[in-house]
Amino acid sequence: MAGEPQDDCLFCKIVAGHIPATIVRETETTVAFRDINPQAPTHVLVIPKAHYENAAALGASAPQLAADVLAETQAVADEEKLDSYRVVFNTGGGAGQTVWHAHAHVLGGRGLEWPPG
Ligand code: IMP
Repeated sequence: MAGEPQDDCLFCKIVAGHIPATIVRETETTVAFRDINPQAPTHVLVIPKAHYENAAALGASAPQLAADVLAETQAVADEEKLDSYRVVFNTGGGAGQTVWHAHAHVLGGRGLEWPPG
């Protein structure tokens, strides 16, 4: 069912504490942790604790939770003292999504080119 934890989901395992992560923020509904393969000096992932396969499913099924995730990207940027930063939701394999639990990448701490590859 939408939002329910999935046994085979890496990020559900991080939410449950079954896989370690460097957690930088946690709220009732979200967790933010450092990406294991950082692409910038700050590279934090913000996820809903509930399982939705990507940003499209999250926005369609749980818009308040999507807003919580977005608010947390701002909170991470503030804590990391980022003046400029990028928030990315890779949505679908063709866009580079590899983990099928909605997540926002917060990237900053270096110049970021546009458009991305
Ligand atoms: P995606 O490619 O947009 O789906 O992003 C998935 C991200 O999860 C990638 O940037 C990975 O480096 C990151 N990742 C994968 N496994 C872990 C982990 O165990 N801890 C933290 N980040 C991870």
